[in-house]
Amino acid sequence: MRKSRLVPVAFAALLCALLPAVPAAAAAPADSTPPATTCQAPSGWQRAPFTVRFAASDAESGVAATWAALDDGPALEVGGAAGAAIDIPAPADHAFDGVHTLSYYSSDVAGNSEAAHTIAVKVDTTGPATAVKAAVGYVSRAVTLRYRVADELSPKASAVTLVVTDGAGQAVSSLSLGSRRTGTWYGARWTPPAAGVFRYSVAAQDLAGNGEAAAGSATIDVERLATVTIGSSYLGRAITVTQFGAGSRRLLIVGGVHGNESGTAVAGQFTAYLLAHPAALPSGARIDVIACANPDGYARHLRGNARNVDLNRNLPTANWRRKLSALNEPGGSDLTGGAAPGSEPETKALLAYLRGGFSVVVSLHSRAGILDCAGPGALALGRRLSVLCGLPLSKLWYDPYITGSLGRYVPERYHVPIVTVELASARLGSGMRAALLAAAE
Ligand SMILES: [Zn+2]
Repeated sequence: MRKSRLVPVAFAALLCALLPAVPAAAAAPADSTPPATTCQAPSGWQRAPFTVRFAASDAESGVAATWAALDDGPALEVGGAAGAAIDIPAPADHAFDGVHTLSYYSSDVAGNSEAAHTIAVKVDTTGPATAVKAAVGYVSRAVTLRYRVADELSPKASAVTLVVTDGAGQAVSSLSLGSRRTGTWYGARWTPPAAGVFRYSVAAQDLAGNGEAAAGSATIDVERLATVTIGSSYLGRAITVTQFGAGSRRLLIVGGVHGNESGTAVAGQFTAYLLAHPAALPSGARIDVIACANPDGYARHLRGNARNVDLNRNLPTANWRRKLSALNEPGGSDLTGGAAPGSEPETKALLAYLRGGFSVVVSLHSRAGILDCAGPGALALGRRLSVLCGLPLSKLWYDPYITGSLGRYVPERYHVPIVTVELASARLGSGMRAALLAAAE
């Protein structure tokens, strides 16, 4: 009987011992906090494919997945708790060049998703293209070489280098120009060592490190500055001409036929301007400047030459006269038109040079402040020059008494226009400079 009672008690005790070991059905605390995701991406422009890596954490239910989308594309699962990454393409056909938006987020096991983060990823597989402009210059005188680096995506280019090669393709100069803004024209100064045709090109890198996609190159025509002696004065002073350019439209500027006027000063200033600004020469033009056609008169500050001949009355025109009218210039003078038409050495030098053939002649005198035009087309040309320099078209009041002048000789002998400029100033202003350049166009 004792035993029969004992068994149920022992069984109940066994049950009591076992029951606490059974898991209780009590609920765990709910996870309402989404994961946090960070990413590692290379900064700046990239020219090769690269990988953006994500690190997500979730303290409660744990990371389930990380999602990423490029631009407006669908969000794709790119990994989970063990790590996530997305490959950014950079195809050689440049199809993915540009700034892209990469958005990403993670979700946890409990189903929470964090708000999407966005970063910009920049892909540039296209190198910069440089443009350059043809240049002209003179030996030993610095010339400005123009260049521009173009790049669709980079606002700046680095490692800009300008290389000059000679006619045999050998590099003769290399200039490191540092970094430059793209899309902007710059100028680099270069001093040609010799005459000849050189070429220059500019190379650069964009911000992604792409090299040149298209390197522009252009010629530099370097001339020896041609100052040629075309004769000498009665007292043996050289008469020289400075020649600019090699175009077929030839302008001859003659200054200082009268040694006491401003023509030599203005012609000299114009020569200095062309030396400093070779590119100002109109294309297709050649400009020859005889700054001082009467060096003896210039040295003595006299109108005539050393033989008292008015050189602008000595040319072999139909109306040449040895004895000049008292009205041939204001106040008259004791000058003559020379012993014969073209008798003077200065006139002979000028006549010989004119035989080279010119499209237009500009003769610089002073100081009446007018433009006197003669010859075919001279009026239209004079009107253009008048607008530029501000001097009116007119004739000197004593024009009917002038004999043997260059203004009459050039159209009479060569049928080309001549503009006799009666300067109002010994300074070459921008207007007169523009007019002289326009005469060569
Ligand atoms: Zn004069």
